[in-house]
Amino acid sequence: MSRKKVINILVYEKDPESLKFLKGFFLKRKGLKPLFLDSAGELYEKIESKAPDALIVGFPNGTKDIQVKELKIPTVALISGNIPKCLKGVLHYKIDYYLMRPFYEDDLDVKLKTALEKRSWFERLYAEKRDLEAIVELSYLISSTLDPGEVLYFVVKKLSEMIEVSRCSVISIGFGEKRYAHVVSSFEDPHISDIKLDLKKYPEIKKALISRKPIVIQDAMEDSIMKSVRSAIAPLGIRSIVVIPIIYRDEIIGTLFLRTSRVRSAFTKREINLCNAIANISANVLYNAFLFEKLENEKARLERLAITDYLTGVYNIRYFYHRLEEEFSRAERYEDPISCIMLDIDHFKKINDTYGHRMGDMVLREFAQVVRRHVRKSDVFARYGGEEFIILLPQTPLDGAEKEAGRLRTFIREHKFKGIGKERITSSLGISCWPVHDVHTHDDLITLADTALFDAKSSGRDRIAVSRKFRKKADDLYGPDRLPC
Ligand code: GH3
Ligand code: MG
Ligand code: MG
Repeated sequence: MSRKKVINILVYEKDPESLKFLKGFFLKRKGLKPLFLDSAGELYEKIESKAPDALIVGFPNGTKDIQVKELKIPTVALISGNIPKCLKGVLHYKIDYYLMRPFYEDDLDVKLKTALEKRSWFERLYAEKRDLEAIVELSYLISSTLDPGEVLYFVVKKLSEMIEVSRCSVISIGFGEKRYAHVVSSFEDPHISDIKLDLKKYPEIKKALISRKPIVIQDAMEDSIMKSVRSAIAPLGIRSIVVIPIIYRDEIIGTLFLRTSRVRSAFTKREINLCNAIANISANVLYNAFLFEKLENEKARLERLAITDYLTGVYNIRYFYHRLEEEFSRAERYEDPISCIMLDIDHFKKINDTYGHRMGDMVLREFAQVVRRHVRKSDVFARYGGEEFIILLPQTPLDGAEKEAGRLRTFIREHKFKGIGKERITSSLGISCWPVHDVHTHDDLITLADTALFDAKSSGRDRIAVSRKFRKKADDLYGPDRLPC
């Protein structure tokens, strides 16, 4: 991990083998500072007091006494127990990243990094969002009033509320004008509509027009820009001045003009930034539309990220469960059949052993893409974990699911995967279907597909098996001799 600061990681794991793996992992990574904890109480306390960057938690050993449902720090789970049960636990705790036995250091590296990155993306997004919302709110208000005089008064009023100034005005500059400007709105007097200013008396405004940049004068009595008018403004007690050009389509059409007689004199960076932002939105509401669109795109990107498996780019198991619940209850309500196919790559360990884990990752990604290309748009295809995938087929009866499984099996075995020479990849598939099989809950649909997959594996791999747990009614339909094919 390439980060300058040390990353503090809490570890709550009791499984001795996992602990051994973690200790070896941290030994080689000086940038990561682990803190191994023994009790849930200590864990809560450290999350509060240490503000750690991430948490590694063991399943099921490390979690049985944790009560919190939502751990608010980036978390990676190490699963060393019963996989379906632990996976459910991982989802229950809303943990996005997990590893299953056997653990690999590279894998943990990637998952920790992704978990940390995801959080910093969210933090940055929310900070930007707050700033943008303030500006967007202003731009809505600006565009909601039709009278330009009212609009400009609203701008100076809002600015005066946000920044403590003794004078706040909008100055308009006529096209090509060099000598005179006009105060079109001023917070001191809402009735001001057009006061002519001789720019000779306002060198700071002149300077802003020439440089096209904000002019910040922290102390008018000291700044050289104000030299020519110093004696004239001295009795007015003016200390600091800010002039922000208002530019519309590359043309300076005016300035914001703020003055203060405060003893602390200086305008802060935040105040100047805010003035700049307000100058921008006053001139160009279109620019805000662009910012708003950018925010919306970023939000959509993060939403996509939250439901995507980081390695393969297909849906993750969290999204799958969410859709499963929805689709299963819809199926029950309308008495529509619904099927599930569980796929597992055959002898995948051999690919890792022969070509290395990185190549294994690439094969895994390619496998997911091949399947994704061939499933229907209405099906939900997700990575279940490791080299196992799952497909939900709404409104699909058993024979439809069998056909789809058959097609997928063929596509996979005929596909030439990159980087593994002439070697072919095969897969085993397990199918379950409601209402054919003995399914009472959406979980049963997965469990039965998983058991069928086990049958496909034990009867030789590279084949499809259908769940053997039939409903009574379905027995009549399909006959008791329906066995794995
Ligand atoms: P089987 O035919 O019984 O399914 O054999 P298999 O070798 O595919 O299954 P096994 O469960 O023995 O091993 C699965 C392997 O998949 C071991 C594990 O390291 C590997 N694996 C799981 N997740 C990943 C991953 O994200 N990347 C890589 N490269 N390998 C993974
Ligand atoms: Mg396998
Ligand atoms: Mg497997």
